[in-house]
Amino acid sequence: RRLDIVDFISTYLTLKKAGANYKALCPFHQEKTPSFMVSPEKQIFKCFGCGEAGDVFSFVMKMENLEFPEALRLLAERAGVQLKRPSFAQARESKLIKDRKTRLYQINDLSAKVFNKILLEHSAGKPAREYLKKRGITVQTIQDFQIGYAPNAQFLERFLAKKGFKPAEIQEAGAPNRFFRRIMFPIKDVMGNTIAFTGRVLDPKQEPKYLNTADTIIFHKGRILYNLNQARGPIKQAKATIVVEGQMDVVASHQAGVKNVVATSGTALTLEHLQILYRYTPNIIFAFDSDNAGLATAKKAYEMAIREGFNVRMVNLGEFKDPGEMIAQSPRLWQEAVQNALPVIDWYFELAFSQLATNNQQLATDMTSQQKKEIAREILPIIKIIPDEIEQAHYVNLLAKKLAVSEEIIFSALAKVGLKKEPASSVKPSVKPKPSLTAEELLIAILLFKPEKIKESQAKIQSADFKNPRLRAIYNDLIKEYNKDSQNITPRLLKRLPRELSVYVNNLIFEAENLYAGGAAELNNDLNQAIKHLQEAQKEALKSYYAAEIQKAEVAKDHAKLKKLIKEFQAAISKSPPAAGRLNQ
Ligand SMILES: [Zn+2]
Repeated sequence: RRLDIVDFISTYLTLKKAGANYKALCPFHQEKTPSFMVSPEKQIFKCFGCGEAGDVFSFVMKMENLEFPEALRLLAERAGVQLKRPSFAQARESKLIKDRKTRLYQINDLSAKVFNKILLEHSAGKPAREYLKKRGITVQTIQDFQIGYAPNAQFLERFLAKKGFKPAEIQEAGAPNRFFRRIMFPIKDVMGNTIAFTGRVLDPKQEPKYLNTADTIIFHKGRILYNLNQARGPIKQAKATIVVEGQMDVVASHQAGVKNVVATSGTALTLEHLQILYRYTPNIIFAFDSDNAGLATAKKAYEMAIREGFNVRMVNLGEFKDPGEMIAQSPRLWQEAVQNALPVIDWYFELAFSQLATNNQQLATDMTSQQKKEIAREILPIIKIIPDEIEQAHYVNLLAKKLAVSEEIIFSALAKVGLKKEPASSVKPSVKPKPSLTAEELLIAILLFKPEKIKESQAKIQSADFKNPRLRAIYNDLIKEYNKDSQNITPRLLKRLPRELSVYVNNLIFEAENLYAGGAAELNNDLNQAIKHLQEAQKEALKSYYAAEIQKAEVAKDHAKLKKLIKEFQAAISKSPPAAGRLNQ
């Protein structure tokens, strides 16, 4: 059964009906009014703000950073179609699996299964079972996250060898056999493949406390968020993502019923992480450990998220060291703390003012000018990076009130604050240049949208007038179909086209629908412009062709040829339409 693009995209974005289409805030660029459209009829999406467009495959590839075959597999799974994976025995016998990644997924998936079985059933897993039980982690939660236990270093390698995996492959998969006497948290990609592990020690004397798989061809820690595979639905439902520091915090939060939670694995939060999360929701709630050691890292994450245009809030953990500790005390406390998360900029205010008056609330009028200056120096750089002007003005106003100075003074101080250099690797620009259509594309778009115009165009433009071979072919097809039967031309054409070309054609129709929603006058005007443009371009091409040929004849002193060329040239440019096809001879 076919996967409908509206159904599929609505698992990521909140779609609103708009005429025959659906619209949403674009996940690929920052915007406040929706210009991202999904057409159920054409089965494509298109952002009229940044130009991103395509079908359900392009969407999932872009959203999930997948290659086409991976996107195909994910979509097949969503549609309930099972693409068969060969069994391990088959693989060993036939050695026909060419896909290196598939082998590496298998190694990690199998390792996760074995670790999980040892934790739940084997006597070697007893200390780990007891540790998790003491922490209040249920068997259901252990299964949800496929938590496991790695008893010693040798057994996994032996086990995998028996299954036909070579030491070099195990190494390439991230060396899951490197973990021993550790509780194992499998890290999964959004498709549910196990791609890496975090191992936590049981014995406090063992070092390091957490061990993470190093980057491999299937695991890039700067791009992977722990639990995003399970949290995607809840994130969309809650319209917010909670980011915590450790896997145990994620697990505990999930068990406490707060499931829209992710963590990084073995790295600080990166810009890429944020860009992935932004596709789901611009609302982010940080719940980082409350110790001072982590403060600088936390601030860096907050500021990066503010800059990226997120609505950033933070959970007040109070006396607790981390979310795990709070949840162990009472899941309800955690649920409420998340509910009451504070806008992070308010926290910056509190921080700056708390240094001023720790004991009693000092009134603004009692502050010395030096104190006001210091507070402003701390807060202004944060206000400066807020991309939204209205929100920025709100905090300027707040600061002015709290310091008992005028807003103008704060604004002028703000203008003088040096903008901290943005990270160079920023991939998602706030405004992408909007690609505009070429005259050739515009003409084809109009003809696809209003095929009754083909007759008019056919009299003036021939397919050879198109420089773009793809558009030339579409024009040819349009004319052929039109001459066969002037009804239902576009649907007939679309049926014949391969996927990529039909997405392209649908995209052009979508563009025309949007451009000419106003009426026929603009369409007719653009049609004439496009035709004129193509004719001019053809004339220019003829001119340069003849100029070159004439020069050649002159150099060769071939007077007969020269005469003939000049005659031809004059005939060609005076004709309307021009002698098309000339250049292809
Ligand atoms: Zn966009």
